[in-house]
Amino acid sequence: MAKLRPATRRCTRTGCTSPAVLTLTYIYSDSTVVLGPLATYAEPHSYDLCSEHGAKLTAPRGWELIRLSSEEIEPGPSDDDLLAIAEAVRSVISNAAEPHQPTIGRRGHLRALPSD
Ligand SMILES: [Zn+2]
Repeated sequence: MAKLRPATRRCTRTGCTSPAVLTLTYIYSDSTVVLGPLATYAEPHSYDLCSEHGAKLTAPRGWELIRLSSEEIEPGPSDDDLLAIAEAVRSVISNAAEPHQPTIGRRGHLRALPSD
């Protein structure tokens, strides 16, 4: 069974010939972009990126960007990267902690029931 060897894969950005070290995956149903370690096999909606393009990556407007296993990104993350990671995590957490607005204000509809 033939396996893709990561060392042979290249960044998919136009004009970039750097070796790919990260895989970007779009999850359309969740409007989420996940940037993680190089995938071992090609998946639909996934793109390989070099460390530079991975570090510069920003999510499209209205999308979440989640970076996984930042310790695998080389060179090590700069302060800007850490800030971006922190923001991404904070954004995910705040979204998760914010439930859909419950329907409230039904108290005005309480009625007295017949006591018989
Ligand atoms: Zn690149």
